[in-house]
Amino acid sequence: MSVIIDDTCIMCDACLQNCPVNAIVDDMHNPTGESRYYVQPEKCIECVGVFDDPQCAAICPSIGCITWDMPYTKAYEEHYMQSDRYAIGTSRSGKLLSPSHREKKYREDIPPEARGVGKEVQEEPEALEAG
Ligand code: SF4
Ligand code: SF4
Repeated sequence: MSVIIDDTCIMCDACLQNCPVNAIVDDMHNPTGESRYYVQPEKCIECVGVFDDPQCAAICPSIGCITWDMPYTKAYEEHYMQSDRYAIGTSRSGKLLSPSHREKKYREDIPPEARGVGKEVQEEPEALEAG
C-alpha cells in the first residue's frame, strides 16, 4: 500500500471500478471480514505511473474515507504482517505475497510521517507539513 479504506466507506463501488490494477475488493470479498471495501496492499501501486493521484481517493464520495498507508516495502514488513487490519494474499504457487516477497511501487513524494490512519490522500504534502 498504499492506501487504506476506513469504516466510513458507504460501499458505493466507485473506487473498485476505477482502480487501474484491480487492487480493491468489495465488502463481500473483504478478507478481513469487515463490512467495507478493502484495498489489497499486495496489489496497490498508489497509481504510480498511471495517474498523478490515487484514483480511488479522487472518486470516493466519503471524504476522508481513504487515507495513506505505509509503503509496501521490506521496511514495513512487520506493519503489514502483524496486524489484523490486513489479510495478505498468496501467489498461485501458494507463496505469501508479503512486502519482502515483492515490494510495490509507492508515491516517494509522500513521506512516512504523512502516512498513517487519518492522513487523508486528498491533502497535499505541503499542507500536511504546514499543519
Ligand atoms: S491507490 Fe490506485 S492502485 Fe491503489 S487501490 Fe487506489 S486506485 Fe488502486
Ligand atoms: S469509493 Fe469510497 S465509499 Fe465508495 S466503496 Fe470505495 S471507499 Fe467505499
